[in-house]
Amino acid sequence: MSVAPHADATTDPLAVRGRVHSLETFGTVDGPGTRLVVFCQGCPLRCAYCHNPDTWAFAGPDGAGPGDETSVREILGVFERNRPFYRRGGITATGGEPMAQADFVAALFAAAHAAPAGRIHTCLDTSGATYETAGAERFSALLDECDLVLLDIKASDPALHRRLCGLSATHALALGDELARRGVPVVVRHVVVPGLTDGEEEVAGVGRIIGDWDNVIGLDLLPYHTMGRVKYERLGIAYPLEGVPAMDAARCRELRRVALRARVERRRERGR
Ligand code: SF4
Repeated sequence: MSVAPHADATTDPLAVRGRVHSLETFGTVDGPGTRLVVFCQGCPLRCAYCHNPDTWAFAGPDGAGPGDETSVREILGVFERNRPFYRRGGITATGGEPMAQADFVAALFAAAHAAPAGRIHTCLDTSGATYETAGAERFSALLDECDLVLLDIKASDPALHRRLCGLSATHALALGDELARRGVPVVVRHVVVPGLTDGEEEVAGVGRIIGDWDNVIGLDLLPYHTMGRVKYERLGIAYPLEGVPAMDAARCRELRRVALRARVERRRERGR
């Protein structure tokens, strides 16, 4: 599912091109500080609560694919034009699924680290859906360049995970294991949907998972909201969570405490 970089990219890393849905120049929710957020085009998952269905497609009817082919140079140019605003921020690659274009994002992050005007902080926001232990070396260059990873754990219950997004959790868990082995700082994110992922046992399961990873520096329980619904209407896609209300933010905070208690218990079992 990886998109190959263009041939001239072998000699000029700044010429590596990826398929980009859009850029958000002043993002404040995907990593620390104010960030340039790169929405990569294409995602193999179909999360019921996804609010970016316009980033799903990898290829259009002509095979050329949606999204714009954008070079590392162009993206860094946008960053440099606004550099003063990003002083405590950096660049985040999200999507869609950025690991589906691992070579492109690796080149972008490497160039960000080597930027002549000063090193740029890099953050990868991923579901881990394309990560495979069998082909882990494909992702090594990218993981080498991540200062922070925002890792989605869609559900701790395996059957619920598959029902929610159409794929097993094994990829995300294998990526989490690898990030822990490498000691890459990780913030785990879990969307809490009423009636689906808001059970105490479900969120305690998330807590137990992160109790195995000593590199986790944060846990975000994100309350489901219905703002993505309008995009489904525009695209003519049936909305999978029709009738499901937005998640109560206060209950979400309580559930986060449940998850953190389970994490502490798990760490205690491990002697941490
Ligand atoms: S991984 Fe993200 S972009 Fe892909 S379907 Fe799920 S929420 Fe949407």
